Amino acid sequence: MLRVVRTWNRWVGVSGYDVNAGEPNLTNELGVEIAHKLIGDDSVEVEVESLSTWAVNHMWATNNTAGRIFCVGDAVHRHSPMNGLGSNTSIQDSYNLAWKLAMVLKGQAGTGLLDTYRQERVPVAEHLIDRVSRSNHLIPPMFMALHLPPTSDEAMLSSSLATLNSHSADSTSFREAFDQALHGTLMCYNSHGMELNQYYQSTGVVTDGAEAPEPPRDPEVYYFASTFPGRHLPHVWLTKDQRQVALFDLCGKGNFTLLTREINEAWPSMDLGIDRKVVSIGRGCDFEDSYGDFAGISEIGEDGAILVRPDHMVAWRSAAAGDAPAADLEGALRAILAR
Ligand SMILES: Cc1cc2nc3c(=O)[nH]c(=O)nc-3n(C[C@H](O)[C@H](O)[C@H](O)COP(=O)(O)OP(=O)(O)OC[C@H]3O[C@@H](n4cnc5c(N)ncnc54)[C@H](O)[C@@H]3O)c2cc1C
Repeated sequence: MLRVVRTWNRWVGVSGYDVNAGEPNLTNELGVEIAHKLIGDDSVEVEVESLSTWAVNHMWATNNTAGRIFCVGDAVHRHSPMNGLGSNTSIQDSYNLAWKLAMVLKGQAGTGLLDTYRQERVPVAEHLIDRVSRSNHLIPPMFMALHLPPTSDEAMLSSSLATLNSHSADSTSFREAFDQALHGTLMCYNSHGMELNQYYQSTGVVTDGAEAPEPPRDPEVYYFASTFPGRHLPHVWLTKDQRQVALFDLCGKGNFTLLTREINEAWPSMDLGIDRKVVSIGRGCDFEDSYGDFAGISEIGEDGAILVRPDHMVAWRSAAAGDAPAADLEGALRAILAR
């Protein structure tokens, strides 16, 4: 397999080896030989930057925290490259942890906030490993449909492909079986839901006790937009001075952000000595909801509010201002920040 790193002259090449024969000696010559084999042209000049071995794993750490040590990335979840979720999940671990560390170190949050790193990210790792291992099983049926045993025999490969491409009636069932197996591999690649539907149930989010909404479609495949606490803030386009602005860009950057709608005076500017912002969205507000999308996805009334964590996860929300909005907001923040 060849994967482009920088078009068109920097690549990652992947080649298998017989594990029973032990790890190969990773020499420069071996790298050049593998590259030439992959591209089928020995005349191309190849410069090897680095070589390493790796194996398909199926493991996650049931604990990612020990005292002052927090583990992120492949150190705590390892799996095959199927679904392409390794780097994303690793970066998300750090994104989840960094603001918590900052707030605890600045004295803005209690150390209890750091416990939420384990509460939130270990279940994500477990789900990821499970999803990816199910994806691993989707590839072999493609080869079975081609009646191919694991082989590098070129004659055998060519003969299977020839049957697939032949225009005879005999090859119809061959093609049907192959197309079905090919369709089955879609889940190896289409996994938007795995990245965007991560849902945190921890002391780092506060709900009003209502049941969490159920995604209407397969949550591993399709993104489910909701502002239920613990879910990722949905994306919508807003407008400022006739320019398009992403809701995402109004939040984060170390701040807690309170999103409000038209009747926004009910909500105080939060002051618990933390980095925070209040942003109103709607007619006559800080940002225009030109397409009505925020009103559509916010799941709050005109006097409601959504509190967004620095990592763009919904921390808390209130459908309406209620009798004591300031106290409600402060209560939620104190709980989240373990203060
Ligand atoms: C073939 C392949 C394809 C992949 N494709 C995708 C993809 O399409 N999409 C995707 O999201 N992910 C993909 N991944 C997964 C992704 O590469 C990893 O999940 C990601 O690199 C993990 O990042 P990390 O920082 O946790 O660990 P690493 O990238 O492994 O970084 C750890 C670093 O620590 C260094 N190190 C180790 N020990 C020590 C030590 N004692 N002292 C100092 N330094 C040390 C290592 O040299 C390394 O540089 C793929 C992985 C493979 C193998």
